[in-house]
Amino acid sequence: MNDLAISQAVANVLKKYSGAAESKENTFQPADQSLSGAEKDSDHHGLIDAIVAELLQQKSETKPSEPYSGNIQFSNEHGIFTSMDQAIEAAYQAQRQYLVCSMADRQKYIDGIRAVFLQQSVLEQISAMAVEETGMGNYEDKLIKNRLAATKTPGTEDLITQAYSGDDGLSVVEYSAYGVIGSITPTTNPTETIICNSIGMLAAGNSVVFSPHPRSKNISLLAVKLINEKLAQLGAPANLVVTVDQPSIENTNVMMTHPKIRMLVATGGPAIVQSVLSSGKKAIGAGAGNPPVVVDESANIEKAAKDIISGCSFDNNLPCIAEKELIVVDHVADFLIHCMKKNGAYLLSEPAQIAQLQELVLNDKKTGPNTNFVGKSAIYLLQQLNIAAPNDTKIILIETDKSHPFVVHELMMPILPLVRVNNVDEAIDLAIEVEHGNRHTAIMHSMNVEKLTKMAKLIQTTIFVKNGPSYAGLGAGGEGFSSFTIAGPTGEGLTSARSFARQRRCVMVEMLNIR
Ligand code: NAD
Repeated sequence: MNDLAISQAVANVLKKYSGAAESKENTFQPADQSLSGAEKDSDHHGLIDAIVAELLQQKSETKPSEPYSGNIQFSNEHGIFTSMDQAIEAAYQAQRQYLVCSMADRQKYIDGIRAVFLQQSVLEQISAMAVEETGMGNYEDKLIKNRLAATKTPGTEDLITQAYSGDDGLSVVEYSAYGVIGSITPTTNPTETIICNSIGMLAAGNSVVFSPHPRSKNISLLAVKLINEKLAQLGAPANLVVTVDQPSIENTNVMMTHPKIRMLVATGGPAIVQSVLSSGKKAIGAGAGNPPVVVDESANIEKAAKDIISGCSFDNNLPCIAEKELIVVDHVADFLIHCMKKNGAYLLSEPAQIAQLQELVLNDKKTGPNTNFVGKSAIYLLQQLNIAAPNDTKIILIETDKSHPFVVHELMMPILPLVRVNNVDEAIDLAIEVEHGNRHTAIMHSMNVEKLTKMAKLIQTTIFVKNGPSYAGLGAGGEGFSSFTIAGPTGEGLTSARSFARQRRCVMVEMLNIR
C-alpha cells in the first residue's frame, strides 16, 4: 500500500463525511445514513477508524518500494547490546535519568516514536521485512497493524490521577513507573508489539528491555534501532528502549531472573506466559486464544459471511484475536456457506484432501500447528495440496465436527472449520468449550440481544465482538484504543500505559484542601 492508496482511502472517507467544514471546524459530521456506528462518531478516533476500515477494504496490491536488504548494522548506540546483563544495566541507568524528565518530555518522546513508524517508507520497510524474515502474514495487513499500533496506542493521557480531599488534607493517587520492564515479544506481531509496548511503557515512566522471538530477530532489532535514533534526536536519556543482538531463550531466562527487572510482560503462547507467572516478579501474561465465532438464525448472514472472512484472513489469521472456528445454527448454515463462498472462501469438502491438509499443517504429535505453515495464505496452503484456487481465495472452509483438531487447536492459518449445531444455546455452549477458558476473544453474529448478552456473560472473554470482524476489537473499525498485548490471564485486558504503572498515594496532612 502506498501514499496514493492511503490518500484515496482518506478521500473516500471524507467524501462520506460531507458538510464537515460548514458544521464545525475539525469535526466530521456523518451525512451518509449507511455509515456504520464507528464512522458516525464525530471525533478524530471515529475518523481514524473509518480510514483504517477503508484501508482494510482496499488492501492495495502495491508492493514496498525498498525491500529488506538484509545488511542493516546494529550497535550499542542503537540500544542493541551483546549481553542481556549489559542491556538491563543500560536500561536501569536510563530509567534513573528518565525519572526527572517532565510529562511533556515523555509525551514528546512518544509522539516521536509514533512519527517514526508513521512515515510511509518506514511502514513499508518494516511490514515487508516482517513478512520476509518470519515467513508469516501478509504485507498489506502488516501495514494496517503497524499503523494502528503507532496511531491508537494510548500515551501519557492514560495516566489519570485520583484525588481525595477533606478536613484531613489532600491525598493523590498517581500512576508511577515500575522501573525497568522486561518485555517478551512474539513472531506473529513483532514490530506491532514493540511499537505498542514502547509507547505504553515509556508513557508510564519505565524503560524497557525487549526479548524478541529469535525468528523475528532482524525486524525487532530494526524497530529498536529506529526508536533509539528518534529518541536520541529528541534528547531523551540513552537506552530507554534496548535489546540484545542475539535474542534467545537463554537471554529471556537471564532477563526473567535479573534483580533489576521490576516487571515482566509476556506476549506469546502458553509456555512463556506460564514462565513469567512463575518468576516471582510482577508479571503480565498476554497469552494464546482460540476465538470462536457464533452465527445464529437472527444474524444478517450476508454481512456475517463478509465479516468472518475479513477477520479470519486478516494477516493470514496470525492475530491471536482472529476467528479460529465457526459455529453456526443448522437452519442458516447452508446460506452462510453460500455467502462465504461468494466472498473468498474455498470450501474443501473432499475427505481425502481434508486429511492431507491435516497431515500437512499439524505438528508431528497433532497437538498444534506445524510452524512452517503458520501465517501462510489460503492459496499457498491449497497449492501444497495441488489445488489451484481462484486468485481471490482468502480462507479455506471445512465442515467438520467439534472434536476435529482444527477446532480444538489454535492454528493461526486461514483455515476455518465450521461446526453445525441445532440452536443458538448449543452454539454458545460449544463456543465456551472450544475457547478452552483462555478468556481471550469471541465473536458473535446475531440480532438477538438476549443471546448476545448470554454469550458475552458466559464466555468471559477479554474481547467480545458483536456483528463485526474480530479486528474491530483491536480498535480497527471498532471503538476504543488499540493494543497488541492483550492480557487475559492476568486481567489487564487490552494493556495501555496504566497497565505498566504502580499506584502510589501521596498524602498532605491538614493542608492543601480548598473546599
Ligand atoms: P511463542 O510462545 O513461541 O513465543 C513468544 C515469545 O516467548 C518469544 O519471544 C519466544 O522466544 C519466547 N518463548 C517461548 N517459549 C519460551 C520459553 N520456554 N522460555 C523462554 N522464552 C520463550 O509465540 P509466537 O509463536 O511468537 O506467537 C504466537 C502465540 O502468541 C500465539 O499463541 C498467540 O495467540 C500468542 N499471542 C498473544 C497475544 C496477546 O496479546 N494475547 C499477542 C500475540 C500473540
